Order: sequence, then C-alpha cells, then structure tokens
Amino acid sequence: MDIRQIKQIIDGLKTTDGAGVNLTRFIGGPELNMLDPFLLLDEFGSDNPDDYIAGFPPHPHRGFETITYMLNGKWQHKDSVGNEGLLGDGSVQWMTAGRGVVHSEMPIQTDGLVRGFQLWLNLPKEKKMIEPAYQDIHVEEIPIIEEQSGTVKIISGNFRGTLGPGLSHTLVLILDIRLNRESEISIPVTDGWNVFSFVYEGDALTHSKGQLAVYEKTGDIHFKTSKSKAGIYLAAGEPLNEPIARGGPFVMNTRGEILQAFEDYQNGKF
Ligand code: FE
Repeated sequence: MDIRQIKQIIDGLKTTDGAGVNLTRFIGGPELNMLDPFLLLDEFGSDNPDDYIAGFPPHPHRGFETITYMLNGKWQHKDSVGNEGLLGDGSVQWMTAGRGVVHSEMPIQTDGLVRGFQLWLNLPKEKKMIEPAYQDIHVEEIPIIEEQSGTVKIISGNFRGTLGPGLSHTLVLILDIRLNRESEISIPVTDGWNVFSFVYEGDALTHSKGQLAVYEKTGDIHFKTSKSKAGIYLAAGEPLNEPIARGGPFVMNTRGEILQAFEDYQNGKF
C-alpha cells in the first residue's frame, strides 16, 4: 500500500466572524487560501457562550455549498427560500447556496459546549447559478462503520462501499474517524483528489489536536495512534481546476460575476 505523504501542517488563524463568533480558520486564510474544491474550513469550539452567542445573523451566499458538521451544540438555521432546520449533536446542515440565499445561523443554547466545523465546497462553473437547496441531515441518518481500530462516520461519499447521506455536486468524501489507542487505519482516496485531515481530539502522531494536515496527490491516507485515541475530521475532493473570484460571501469564476452578485443582493434578488 502506498501511503500519502503530508505536505503541510497548518495551525490555523484565530479570527471572528458573523456578529462576533470566535473561531479558527484553517482554509481560506493566509496559510492556505484554498484546497480545490474546498474554499474554507472554520473550526469552532468553546464552552464559553461569549465565544458563540452572537451567532451569524442574516447574510448572503452565492456560488458554493456550506457544510456544517456539529460535534456538540444546538443551532438553528433559517434561509430566505423558506428552509428552516435544527442542528443537534452529530448532525449536518448542507446548504447549497447556488444562485443565492440569505440565511442565518444562530445558537439556540445559552450555555454549554459548542463544537464543530464549517466547510465551504465550491460548485462547478455550470452549477453556480442553480436553485438553492438545503439538506438537514440528522445524526441517525449518518452511517457508522465499526472497525477493529475504531469507528468511521460517513457524512458524504463512499467509504468501503457504504455511502454517506450528504449529496454533493462534485465528487467528495467527508468522514469523522474515531481511532482507538494503539490502532491504525487506512482510508482509500482516489489519486489526484485533494485531502485534508483535522485532529479535533487526541493525537494522530503525524499531527495532534488542533492541527490540519494537507496531503500530496497520491496514495491512501494512513492514521496511527499510540497512547491516546484520536478524533479526526477528514475531507477529500476532486479538484475543479476552474478560475476563482472571491468577494466576501460570494465565490464565482470572474470578477464581473462577483460585481453582479453584489448588485443582485443589493437589489433584493436573493
Ligand atoms: Fe453562512
């Protein structure tokens, strides 16, 4: 078996977004602008309500999908298309912004632990202006594969023949891997796809809690633990190799399309 090598370890940048939510940005910042097809990865985790209570009041998006995976916490999502959903421990909110939505993401708890990730997945050029859509994926819908070495939750894509519930417009694999002590696991990933793994708990030897690893283009992903177990969030995707134009909450292919997005938003077309 060919083991994929790590090419970069990222410690992330502490930042604030929404109305004052403290989070750490791993993709979409100065260390790693993007990892095609992934445009952004934020990790949030705090048991201090001051870090999250302000939430993300109504704001627009166009041109990509946001995938929020909640390890702990209760949030509510509402959008301009009339969708509404509750995010609880272990659930996923998959929002396809397409040609445009205005949505809010707000905590519905006033204390306790909030922990999770928001990943932005790009839409291919021909799908950037599709109708907005929303998948509210409950924790019971996410298959968990039991292995000798631990468990693998399949959020999206195909892992050893089992499909995750998250439906994407590009080819991806998104997993939550929990590895026991003194264990190892191999995750097959298609050659040429981009991959990152983030350790949210414990230690995976190659990288530890709070670190993101970015891999080379070929081989399988291999994780190993020693004295401590590990919780790992992994995402892999086929690169789109298309031009990117970013303008805050909009991600399109050209500068002109970004200006159009701002104009459409200001004219209430979302
Ligand atoms: Fe948002």
